[in-house]
Amino acid sequence: MTPLEVLLAELIAAEGPLRIDRYMALCLGHPRHGYYITRDPLGEKGDFVTAPEVSQVFGELVGVWAVGAWGLMGQPGAFNLVELGPGRGTLMADVLRTVRKAAPAFAASASVHLVETSPVLRAAQRTAVGAGAQWHDRLEDVPEGPMILLANEFFDAIPIRQFERREGVWRERVIGLTDGRLSPGVGGIVPGTMGRDGDVMEFAPARDEIARHIGERIAAHPGAALLIDYGHLHTAPGDTLQAMRAHRFLPVTETPGEADLTSHVDFEKLAAAVREAGAVVHHGMTQRGFLLAMGLEQRIAQLALRADDVTRATLARQMARLADEAQMGNLFKVLCATSPGMSTPYPFG
Ligand code: SAH
Repeated sequence: MTPLEVLLAELIAAEGPLRIDRYMALCLGHPRHGYYITRDPLGEKGDFVTAPEVSQVFGELVGVWAVGAWGLMGQPGAFNLVELGPGRGTLMADVLRTVRKAAPAFAASASVHLVETSPVLRAAQRTAVGAGAQWHDRLEDVPEGPMILLANEFFDAIPIRQFERREGVWRERVIGLTDGRLSPGVGGIVPGTMGRDGDVMEFAPARDEIARHIGERIAAHPGAALLIDYGHLHTAPGDTLQAMRAHRFLPVTETPGEADLTSHVDFEKLAAAVREAGAVVHHGMTQRGFLLAMGLEQRIAQLALRADDVTRATLARQMARLADEAQMGNLFKVLCATSPGMSTPYPFG
């Protein structure tokens, strides 16, 4: 048993089964044994690889997007460039390198704010981005004002609740104990009759709250947000809670605190929360559609010109990983939100 599993078993024995959101929050964020608190999980040697870690081109294209959005905001001479859950800081470092070259006025106007709860990853971000950035535990702590906000694979790590229909009634999924070991189960009946037996519905009040907060900020000040994650553009039933360790899936109750625990992002609900707060949400698109429209192929071709054969092959592999339908291209979606009255940033029009 992992140290966290021992604690969770004691907690469940004392207080009863845990809701999935509490279980996720403890596995990922427990102050001593939480997955993100104790390690840097990224990279080939870690548990998973994200788009900015696949290729510098990802961050370069996001940087180009951000400069476009800044233009539509009226090129404010001071604005907050915010990233939620920046991991190793690779995306922000690639964005900053790109804009310093391509749009020095943008770079000079930006104050970088990183929202991160992991001390290990904060240290990595300081190395990648430099000490000029400011760190916060929550978006609420970032100063108000014009803002461009980026989030890649952030919302998937924010806890969800799950409900399952059994014999005509909906019950909340929980993590309980069987023979002293953690085991999935269901709790009390919750109202509702829609769906069919076996259906699982997921709700993420914690995600909705962050999305509402993003919406409130860009409704009050000029701003744009780019939210990238794996998930679906339309709400649908399904159990998407998943644990991953060393690039392989495992049961969600196995090695708690030592495996990543995420679920697919319901972009329809996320968009509704942003909209409810007064911001405008544009049509979502796939990561493939976004990156190709932003010039992925052209940028890769440009890098390939100066490269040897081995590097050229690597570049082709990286491009495929980011954009092929069967790889990250279709599973990952991109949502863009802006202030009301602002023109739609390319390529969302
Ligand atoms: N965006 C990065 C990392 C994705 S992993 C990339 O694409 O490589 C998820 C990130 O979100 C990590 O940096 C993790 O520490 C952070 N995170 C998870 N839960 C968080 C929370 N509640 N508040 C702030 N950051 C969180």
